[in-house]
Amino acid sequence: MHLLNADLHSHSTVSDGTLAPEALARRAHGAGVELWALTDHDEVGGLPRAREAALDLGLDFLTGVEVSVSFAGETVHIVGLGFDADDEALRAGLAATRGGRTERARLMAESLAAAGIRGAFEGALRYVGNPELVSRTHFARFLVETGVCEDTHAVFRRYLTPGNPGYVPHRWAGLGDAVRWITAAGGIAVIAHPARYRFTPTEEYALFSEFVAHGGRGVEVITGSHTTAEQLRYADTALEFDLLASRGSDFHSPDESRTALGALPDLPGRLTPVWQALAGHVQRR
Ligand code: AMP
Ligand code: MN
Ligand code: MN
Ligand code: MN
Repeated sequence: MHLLNADLHSHSTVSDGTLAPEALARRAHGAGVELWALTDHDEVGGLPRAREAALDLGLDFLTGVEVSVSFAGETVHIVGLGFDADDEALRAGLAATRGGRTERARLMAESLAAAGIRGAFEGALRYVGNPELVSRTHFARFLVETGVCEDTHAVFRRYLTPGNPGYVPHRWAGLGDAVRWITAAGGIAVIAHPARYRFTPTEEYALFSEFVAHGGRGVEVITGSHTTAEQLRYADTALEFDLLASRGSDFHSPDESRTALGALPDLPGRLTPVWQALAGHVQRR
């Protein structure tokens, strides 16, 4: 069970990935992934295509989503796994969460224009696969295309982040709302890439305790952006809060992602994998 090659965090063109759901399924299967979830930002529209492609390949599939949440002045990502993707309250909640993205993108372009970078709104839109989902990643691709930055990682060091041109604060979903949408739709809510948030220890403790109080049950211990030390640290956190452990690459693109699909360390043996609790939710032919 622990040694299953599960990749439960990845993005397609339905949010800010560069591969269509079908191509992502083929790539995951080709890379040796045995259980896969597509987790587009704030959107479940790619799941039927991903599911069909995965099942045709004989690749076990879980529904997934990555919900943007505002907590203690920071954006936190909550991954949902194994839910009913037709659930009306979940779909309405995600639609509301997506709602302000286009207006935010216009403000981001204005901020970049003030820093001398013109045409960013139209430029970013050329990378967008889903008109309801303009993200910072699409702006980052435009800034690489125009030679402003070397690669997308360099973009986020100089632009689009707090204190830098192109950053526009945004109010996302509430933590309790996101956890409840996922849980009420039959899924399991998981805190994504916990080491990426700039929280004090007190704020982080509040995030985990409130998450659990709302019914959240998992944490990503193994993710593409965690160092070995961070994996060990959040393995301890999983035990401290009695959380299931998840594993996912957060793959976005063959050109941009540092971690390939499924190319991750195994979960530490002392943890309970989230897929153990989702066995009845896995879709296969
Ligand atoms: P948004 O939901 O529009 O705020 O965009 C967030 C997305 O930007 C994340 O899901 C990542 O794909 C990307 N991103 C944010 N920060 C970074 C970073 N430091 N390095 C690389 N990608 C980032
Ligand atoms: Mn992303
Ligand atoms: Mn994320
Ligand atoms: Mn992600």
